Amino acid sequence: MKVIVVGGVAGGMTTASQLRRIDSNAEIHVFEKGPHISFANCGLPYYLSREVESRSKLLERTPLDMEKRGIHVHVGHEVIHVDTDKKTVDVKVLDTGVIKSVSYDKLVLSPGGKSVILDSLKNVPQSFVLQQLHQLDSIESYIEAHNVKEVVVVGTGFIGLEVTENFVRRGFKVTVIQHNDNVYSPLETDMKGFMYESFKVQGVDLKLNSEIVKVVGDKAILKSGEEISAPLIIVAVGIKPNTGFLEGSNVSLEHGYIPVNEFGETSVKDVYALGDAILTHYAHVPEKPVSVALAWPAHRLAFVIAKHISGSTEFKHDGLLGTSIVEFFGYTIAQVGLSMKDLDEDTKYIDHTQGNIAGYMKNVENIQARVYYDDDGKILRGVFVGKKGVDKRLNTLAAFMRTDGNIKNLIHIEIGYAPPYGTTKDLLNMIGYKAI
Ligand code: FAD
Repeated sequence: MKVIVVGGVAGGMTTASQLRRIDSNAEIHVFEKGPHISFANCGLPYYLSREVESRSKLLERTPLDMEKRGIHVHVGHEVIHVDTDKKTVDVKVLDTGVIKSVSYDKLVLSPGGKSVILDSLKNVPQSFVLQQLHQLDSIESYIEAHNVKEVVVVGTGFIGLEVTENFVRRGFKVTVIQHNDNVYSPLETDMKGFMYESFKVQGVDLKLNSEIVKVVGDKAILKSGEEISAPLIIVAVGIKPNTGFLEGSNVSLEHGYIPVNEFGETSVKDVYALGDAILTHYAHVPEKPVSVALAWPAHRLAFVIAKHISGSTEFKHDGLLGTSIVEFFGYTIAQVGLSMKDLDEDTKYIDHTQGNIAGYMKNVENIQARVYYDDDGKILRGVFVGKKGVDKRLNTLAAFMRTDGNIKNLIHIEIGYAPPYGTTKDLLNMIGYKAI
């Protein structure tokens, strides 16, 4: 069996590795258009502050490592067309321009997303996106070559926040541009007062309702007419699925995303997809479609797909909760379940704020929580904000939502308690009591 994988990072490389583990005979080829495979996208912002001390730690595997495992990796190879009738892909070798046709028995698509670049920042030499290791290298080289000490970050999604924080840690003067007045839009408006405050405390110049209309030299002109210093600009305004090469392939797309079933199969037999480019559904509200551009879903579906390719239907993908967490200047922002835009406006919720540990302990910190639920008590969404212990509540709730998921039954979660770890009635228990 010959398996072709498109994309050699989170989803693609994990599928290839899982398959190799399960099936020692499969012939596996991975085509990656970039220069690297298996790098830690999630770690990239943390190199900017040297929280990740060495660049080499971001590179988890090389093509040579994979070759030793019998996985043929072809970097600098872009798949430009898929013919699902003939079961072939056209691959362009980027440094020669040569195009070759390669056959497959099974095809796995994990092309991820492409960072959106605003028109006003196209072809601007100091403007970068941060999605791949070579882009991090370009940013670092630019900083060194131009002795840069300040940066403008465009966008306040999780990558914008991480980039901002890590440049602050590096000692850079940071300006953040947000096109409206709503920073980090996934979080409830009334729960993010601390974010505006933190930008101020950290000396970040947050420019709300602002857009860059033009860059001239190392200055950016804003919509308001204001001219700001912009020797380096990082654009983090979202991604679009990298699925243009599937045009004319018979693989169905919805708004550019690839719908998949419980085995990661696309609309075409023997073609699978995973990662940021897919469209699936919420695990707890299956009638609602969702696309989750996070690492866990890619890794999880890689396993399901590898198993299915090798003939097992034992493991199924049953949707996602979109569990996410981000650090922001000492705070943690965490959420699970429906996004705010997928919730009905009048959905009921419980608000609760409680210490992460026993209130009499000197290091206690409050966690602010909100849990939304429907008329039957099914938990739809949970949000947590605080300085400590947020991840614990998030992950517990995520596990609970995968099993029972009824808000009243939160009272039954038997927590591990001693004063440095929690309270006798944990925040999650209290939300359950409040819902009864
Ligand atoms: P990718 O890992 O992006 O891999 C896709 C690969 O396919 C790319 O290398 C691309 O070059 C290649 N490709 C695309 N088209 C073609 C083609 N036609 N031919 C050949 N190759 C092609 N997630 C979290 O859960 N937590 C985090 O903290 C987190 N932090 C992040 C920080 C940053 C800076 C970034 C960029 C992402 C972060 N993510 C995080 C998201 C996570 O990295 C992605 O969800 C995950 O990598 C998606 O895997 P994927 O395989 O779909 O795409």
